[in-house]
Amino acid sequence: MAIPTTADEVRRLDRDHVLHSWSAQAHINPLPIKSASGASFSDYDGNTWLDFASQLVNSNIGHQHPKVVQAIKDQAEKLCFVAPAFANDARSELARLIAERAPGDLNKVFFTNGGAEANENAIRMARVHTGKQKILSAYRSYHGATHTAITATGDPRRWASDNSSTGIVHFFGPYAYRSAFGAKNEAEELERSLGHLEQLVMLEGPGTIAGILLETIVGTNGVLLPPDGYLAGVREICDKYGIMLIADEVMVGFGRVGEWFAINNWGVTPDLLTFAKGVNSGYVPLGGVVMSKAIADTFEDRPFPGGLTYSGHPLACAAGVASIEVFEEEKILEHVKDLGERVLRPRLDKMAVDHPSIGEIRGKGLFFALELVTNRETHEPLVVFNASGADAEPMTKLLAACKERGVWPFTHFNRLHIAPPLVISEEELVRGLDVIDEALKVAD
Ligand code: PLP
Repeated sequence: MAIPTTADEVRRLDRDHVLHSWSAQAHINPLPIKSASGASFSDYDGNTWLDFASQLVNSNIGHQHPKVVQAIKDQAEKLCFVAPAFANDARSELARLIAERAPGDLNKVFFTNGGAEANENAIRMARVHTGKQKILSAYRSYHGATHTAITATGDPRRWASDNSSTGIVHFFGPYAYRSAFGAKNEAEELERSLGHLEQLVMLEGPGTIAGILLETIVGTNGVLLPPDGYLAGVREICDKYGIMLIADEVMVGFGRVGEWFAINNWGVTPDLLTFAKGVNSGYVPLGGVVMSKAIADTFEDRPFPGGLTYSGHPLACAAGVASIEVFEEEKILEHVKDLGERVLRPRLDKMAVDHPSIGEIRGKGLFFALELVTNRETHEPLVVFNASGADAEPMTKLLAACKERGVWPFTHFNRLHIAPPLVISEEELVRGLDVIDEALKVAD
């Protein structure tokens, strides 16, 4: 018995024995990937693509970084696994590195195996800590695919028919481009969205609400940046009514927008902050919840049932320590800010002038989305939803035009997302943007 070596064999075994989630649309004919390096990945026929999606916005330090691969090998030779009740050197060191970089007084880490588990546990922590049940979370959000995390996800297209986790109430976050409040500009949107949130708190009863969960920057649902003042406003509401603020940084933590944590851009400290993906770029699954010592201490008297066999796995934590060292040595945060501001943003602004299909450009650092429309005045979306589903053909064509020119971004409904590995070079970034510029003609 051996690992299959041909694309056909990999595809056949995948088709026969792997169950994909419905959202992994590629499952109809998954492309077998043979190898990856830096900002690119390759198939078995030698085709190589620039990875403009970082594999679900995950591969922040790029593929196969030699330092991280070596750290995993070294750790594997020393200690592969020990139960989480024991301490291990990699976990201790990674927790210290995260505590040093987390906002405000957040300095204790509960480790999980990924982002959904991190949110699931943060929700339970908020409930145990406050003794209250309800969680408010935003429409246009994604928090993961476990039971409560998917219920907290404010995207009805993702809810399964057995979606039944109770105690989650959704609110509208600020999105001035297609405002739920009829606001005319961002300042009005800010005021109305905060007003809406406070009204909802009053309606539900502050004495019943454990936490407000939000993505610092909404990722999958459109790269929606909070207007200045929004996060501070939510913090104020939380403080006023004794509610915990939970910031989901699974997608935007660890450098994606040029800060260790995106929330540092707005100087707000949440009570609980969840992370995953970028902490070690997925080399070994890892996630977690960061909190203050004061909050962590309360779980000694009021324990939450969060024991996970692989929590703080030595291999995952060793990869995390090495990743953070790579960030420092290669000055990745500075690189992200520089490339984002000097190269990516101006180039996208120029594309918006040239392409009538671009309705709005949103983003920061190396994390952008192009909102695609058929009519700029009315914001009429390129992908139209109706009773019989969505006509996704224009997006499929656009994606195909990128892929056949060697660039693999990701699309989500009306948006083309651009989120390359943070180690991408200027030359690679420009090459990829040239391709997208050309490919957009199919959508104009
Ligand atoms: N939260 C956010 C903001 C995410 O983007 C994701 C995944 O894309 C998750 C949570 C879920 O993370 P995971 O897939 O590791 O469970």
